[in-house]
Amino acid sequence: MVDEKKDVREIRINPVIPTESVLVATARSMRPKKEEELAPRDTRKHVDRCPFCTGNEHMTPPAIDTFPEEKNWEIRIVENLYPVLGSEVQGQNYVFGLQQAIDGYGRHEVIVDHNHHGIALHEMSEKHIANLFTAYRNRMKLLYDTDSRLRYVLVFKNYGPAAGASMAHTHSQIIATPVVPNNVQSEVENSHAFYKKNAHCIFCTLIDEALTFDATIYDKYSGEIKRKIDVGQYIIERSEKFIAIKPFASRYEWEVHILPLVHQADFLTLNPDDALDFARVLRRTMQRLDTVIGGAQYNYFLHSLPHTTADSGCKNSYHWHLEICPRTSIPAGFELGSGLFVNTISPEEAADQLRGVQLE
Ligand SMILES: [Zn+2]
Ligand SMILES: [Zn+2]
Ligand SMILES: [Zn+2]
Repeated sequence: MVDEKKDVREIRINPVIPTESVLVATARSMRPKKEEELAPRDTRKHVDRCPFCTGNEHMTPPAIDTFPEEKNWEIRIVENLYPVLGSEVQGQNYVFGLQQAIDGYGRHEVIVDHNHHGIALHEMSEKHIANLFTAYRNRMKLLYDTDSRLRYVLVFKNYGPAAGASMAHTHSQIIATPVVPNNVQSEVENSHAFYKKNAHCIFCTLIDEALTFDATIYDKYSGEIKRKIDVGQYIIERSEKFIAIKPFASRYEWEVHILPLVHQADFLTLNPDDALDFARVLRRTMQRLDTVIGGAQYNYFLHSLPHTTADSGCKNSYHWHLEICPRTSIPAGFELGSGLFVNTISPEEAADQLRGVQLE
């Protein structure tokens, strides 16, 4: 048997974006500074002065959409009061010397995920989470359909002060931009290159490996067993249609990705049945994370095929997914300067702990 608890020190390459690598270094001395103290989560149901709480709707811009209806909303979408992008085109593109600026055109909206102020995702019902992701889908579709200048609609959630959430009330955000964000573009391009070479989707291949791969890797010099990879070792949750995987090259200690098991490039193809199945996997995954970390503060974001003519040829090579990145340490100078993420818990150990949580 290999002792997985022994220190790991290796650079792992992201198979989708090989330029993005991770230093897995579990020795104590490598540990980046932990949060001084994770601020405790605000679990109150209702807060009088919170603009996202029921009864305070006048404190936000009018609702763009609500679910179910305005009066008894459970999910509410509004314009962001402090948008990072403006919905008016100002025609301010300009160039000087080597410098170039493009008009900050786009949409920035807030989705109040629930009428319960402090509810955590794993405390919501599966039905509610399915409705939330259906609301994301509908809003993304409408933005793509009505504004041809938008090239990408990014849905993300910051939960907890450690994840940069400025409002305690549970919410997500939509930022629609006239450019495809770099992270998504790299995934799209690299997976397309893999497809051209192998006639397979790289994400499907990774899922397949996670489900079937086992291997024993020996030390080149001593011949000792260096690592044993068991079938399913990186799988955190699995349902009929979705799978939650701990990436081998995880950037964050507790990072988990959820993907549809059957190839699907575009999140917009999610139907109500899929949404329920997805919600089950997400809810159980969040429950595991919350138990192991002891109150998960995290970012999650949806990566889906961009709606641009250039990317329509990537339907077979791109595979939508949700990346969940719990925040347990602060990136410091080394990470910022090198772009190399440092992960201080081996993904094998993290997967083991997450799988070990007993759920009802
Ligand atoms: Zn609130
Ligand atoms: Zn695929
Ligand atoms: Zn991604």
